[in-house]
Amino acid sequence: MNERKIVARRSNYHFEGFSETEAEELIKLWEEGHFQEAQKKWDLFNWDSCPTCGAFIVSNRRITGCIVCNHSFIG
Ligand SMILES: [Zn+2]
Repeated sequence: MNERKIVARRSNYHFEGFSETEAEELIKLWEEGHFQEAQKKWDLFNWDSCPTCGAFIVSNRRITGCIVCNHSFIG
């Protein structure tokens, strides 16, 4: 099964489901302005920004909550 991968950014990056190497590569792509490339590579299509903390969140699954402040997007 494909694991859930999620990345969020506010002041720092927050990762779930990424190895350290993948996370480093993702940071590099994002900071160099190649975020679309990163989205393609890890199938990150679902994104939103957290209404509570404003973190920018990207995932390869439906986003159910913020991994920065733990705000739930359900219900
Ligand atoms: Zn949040």
